[in-house]
Amino acid sequence: ELANRMAERSADVVKALMKMGMMVSMNQPIDADTAELVIEEFGHKTVRVSDSDVEQVIDTVEDKAEDLQSRPPIITIMGHVDHGKTSLLDAIRKANVVSGEAGGITQHIGAYQVTTDSGAVLSFLDTPGHAAFTSMRARGANVTDIVVLVVAADDAVMPQTVEAINHAKAAGVPMIVAINKVDKPEADPDKVRSALLHHEVIVEKLSGDVQDVEVSAKTGLGLDELLEAIALQAEILELKANPDRSAQGAVIEAQLDIGRGPVATVLVQHGTLRRGDIFVVGEQWGKVRALINDKGERVEEAGPSVPVEVLGLNGTPEAGDVLNVVETEAQAREIAEFRNQQAKDKRAAAGAATTLEQLMAKAKADENVAELPVILKADVQGSAEAIVQALEKVGNDEVRVRVLHYGVGAITESDIGLAEASQAPVMGFNVRANAPARNSANQKGVEIRYYSVIYDLVDDIKAAASGLLSAEV
Ligand code: GDP
Repeated sequence: ELANRMAERSADVVKALMKMGMMVSMNQPIDADTAELVIEEFGHKTVRVSDSDVEQVIDTVEDKAEDLQSRPPIITIMGHVDHGKTSLLDAIRKANVVSGEAGGITQHIGAYQVTTDSGAVLSFLDTPGHAAFTSMRARGANVTDIVVLVVAADDAVMPQTVEAINHAKAAGVPMIVAINKVDKPEADPDKVRSALLHHEVIVEKLSGDVQDVEVSAKTGLGLDELLEAIALQAEILELKANPDRSAQGAVIEAQLDIGRGPVATVLVQHGTLRRGDIFVVGEQWGKVRALINDKGERVEEAGPSVPVEVLGLNGTPEAGDVLNVVETEAQAREIAEFRNQQAKDKRAAAGAATTLEQLMAKAKADENVAELPVILKADVQGSAEAIVQALEKVGNDEVRVRVLHYGVGAITESDIGLAEASQAPVMGFNVRANAPARNSANQKGVEIRYYSVIYDLVDDIKAAASGLLSAEV
């Protein structure tokens, strides 16, 4: 690679390195300082691309207050499985299509916009649940302004409800509670309200400051009210962005499309993205060939909080990657390559970034109680609960095991996402990780451990927890 860049023969580069006392093969990575020496040896000039160069190229100017204009809020729907997240997203979209555009065919691009009766525009992320939210956060993309927490009125506050609350709180994102399925005869919305109290979520009906709306995704009851509640919350937040600068956005979905090549749905956060713009996105770069909105229409540009599909990428980025418009293709390529190299180095170094051993070392020294986060998947609910109970007994005043999430079934990509964001290992009890989860874990350096004996699992965690203790002393 280095020889290539210098337009020299690779054998000569290897020879030069050997003269410097480094016995390397053709494809062996060398560090930057060595590379610089070699480059000088050949009489070339070194141009180092560093983080700060990247920052310089990317427009990071602070916006002046007068340039800021209000922008639509971006909403993520979270809640326990089967409480109606998907149904609610569908119902909101459908209700809006009927009153909206001719044709009314919506495209699934990962996010969509609706207009409320009072004229407010809202952008919904189409991937419900906190897994996506968390993996975006892990990659540094905080796109959500408001979380709608769905709780089924015929059920109760469930583990994932609590997770969602914790994730929203951790991100500092305000919540609105949608009490769903109120059409059901056994629905008991007040039970939901009081159950939320135990998790420090005090809804307006109980004189708190979290808006609560009773809805039915099935009948459409309360949907308008929910949308207005969101619009009100958005007004309070005074969300603003400058549309007149080079665009920055976050990838919320990306895939390789057979006919169209790599496609990414980007939610614009600053500025306005236009056809013809040159950009870098994560480790990829490109030039906007076409922009397609959530109604499947080609558009010329997309401003703040608008989701668009972007065509014209040279590779497929990942959800959570940040897109930045830059001046020239050379810059875009340079930054993308720099990041690519960085990522490779990181992967090589990571091996397993979140092994139990490393967790000990990484334990938060700034807190009085060190926490050992764990994610658990088991074959049956009974074992999961037994293990959680056993794990919660591990630890003492100084260290505590925190089961961030547990569930029944195979280890999935969303478990890995949560593990990455929370620096936690994933423990599988009589279950395995599926193939996408395994790949994802390898890429992200998330440790997966398999067990078939509860005692072994608890023992390992105990060992890690005591390691956590000794690491702190
Ligand atoms: P998710 O897992 O949170 O995305 O939940 P889904 O949207 O898939 O809904 C789970 C189940 O609850 C489905 O069978 C839905 O038809 C049903 N459901 C969702 N919302 C309502 C509602 O408001 N009323 C009734 N009766 N059923 C609902």
